[in-house]
Amino acid sequence: MSGLTYVSTRGSAPELGFADVLLAGLARDGGLYVPSRWPSLTVGDLQRFASMPYAEVAAEVMWPFVEGAIDRDTFAALCADSYATFDAPDVVPLTDLGDGVWLAELFHGPTLAFKDVALQLVGRLFDHELTRRGERVTVVGATSGDTGSAAIEALRDRPSVDVFILHPAGRVSEVQRRQMTTVDAPNVHNLAVEGTFDDCQDLVKALFADDTFRDTRNLSAVNSINWARVMAQLVYYVTSSVRLGGAEGRPVAFSVPTGNFGNVFAGYGAQRMGTPISQLVVASNQNDILTRFLTTGTMTIGEVHPTLSPSMDIQVSSNLERLLFEVYGRDGEAIAELMARFRAEGTVSVDAGRLDLLSEHWAAGRVDDEGTAATIAELHERTGMLIDPHTAVGLAAAREARADVRVPMVVLSTAHPAKFPDAVEAATGVRPPLPPHLADLFERPERYRVVANDFDVVRATIESTLDGIG
Ligand SMILES: *Cc1c(COP(=O)(O)O)cnc(C)c1O
Repeated sequence: MSGLTYVSTRGSAPELGFADVLLAGLARDGGLYVPSRWPSLTVGDLQRFASMPYAEVAAEVMWPFVEGAIDRDTFAALCADSYATFDAPDVVPLTDLGDGVWLAELFHGPTLAFKDVALQLVGRLFDHELTRRGERVTVVGATSGDTGSAAIEALRDRPSVDVFILHPAGRVSEVQRRQMTTVDAPNVHNLAVEGTFDDCQDLVKALFADDTFRDTRNLSAVNSINWARVMAQLVYYVTSSVRLGGAEGRPVAFSVPTGNFGNVFAGYGAQRMGTPISQLVVASNQNDILTRFLTTGTMTIGEVHPTLSPSMDIQVSSNLERLLFEVYGRDGEAIAELMARFRAEGTVSVDAGRLDLLSEHWAAGRVDDEGTAATIAELHERTGMLIDPHTAVGLAAAREARADVRVPMVVLSTAHPAKFPDAVEAATGVRPPLPPHLADLFERPERYRVVANDFDVVRATIESTLDGIG
């Protein structure tokens, strides 16, 4: 195996190459895969990136992580295809908000949320590797909105994959439902479950726990702990930094609306590779387990509260384990113990000395719904711009936590305002229109099957669909 290898954060799963990590998702010891070392970007690299298109920078930044698993021209072509689906020439454009604050717009992909940046590439990498192996998989996932549509758009029409997405019937917004159900591709199957999002998640877990079903149908997932998703997200930290003087060594700060911690961990990775990032602000809504952890060292599971920024309504941020692994000097045994204690007791503390390692570069901010709405309203009043509630959490937290006003602050804008039109309209009185490629979303025919919240019914529906395809 040539190229970089990957180790599990819990230390006992086998070390794997990129292709196996891509398809495995979670490591066999329950841990998450991380690269065995961080490759480095030189000042010369950053200088060259300044004049290159996004997709080419992407291929260069990610190359050390995939080398050995795919040839270079093929990988560059997959990057080019992935980012050609974005409706902005820069792919991730930067917008100046004044006072040294910038927005990095991550929402120009097919489903209007930042998950497209990673999933457009991951879908293509999946298909490439499965085709090479002569294998076929059934991807099954549950969604409360955003992830399902991004996965569907990433996997549509890929010959080696069938995708089944379960959503709670009548409990996702109409835009979100239509983004999933109007995709006209033979390998895309939407199941509207007569239940809640938790019911959908339980059904998916039960499908994976059914060994016979899992093996005969070759079940797979493209969830947010997949290393390839983090890898694809490193790129916009690099391009944003370069645009703001990174190649001349000028530092940049980022504020990241955070749920599962995948996005902000990619910022950490970019920093480890040599991008001059002076501060990473973890922005949370009322579900502030991360803010509390970063300020007190104790992490305790509570209840999930619904907020205006639903993609961050999360209690356990799985990707945090990757940062803890680094903070513990890459001691997998210590992480395995820590996570076992967290699982058993619902709470865990990290010694103060460990967190001190983070205090230099990390900050956290919590923004409630009132602060979110006020931020959307204030920006609209001052500049005429509309931002979505997740971005607003990032902007408000950035203002609160900014360490040095001379350093540019880049707020990651993780969703298009039209994805959350009700919250934006309530704050500003203006209803954001859908971009041109989705303007006829409400006229497109929908395809989905309503199924009972019942394991046997769901499994039988998937089996008969797959058998019907042959
Ligand atoms: C998924 C998502 C987030 C959270 O990102 P993580 O990588 O899970 O921290 C934030 N905003 C939006 C709009 C999202 O879809």
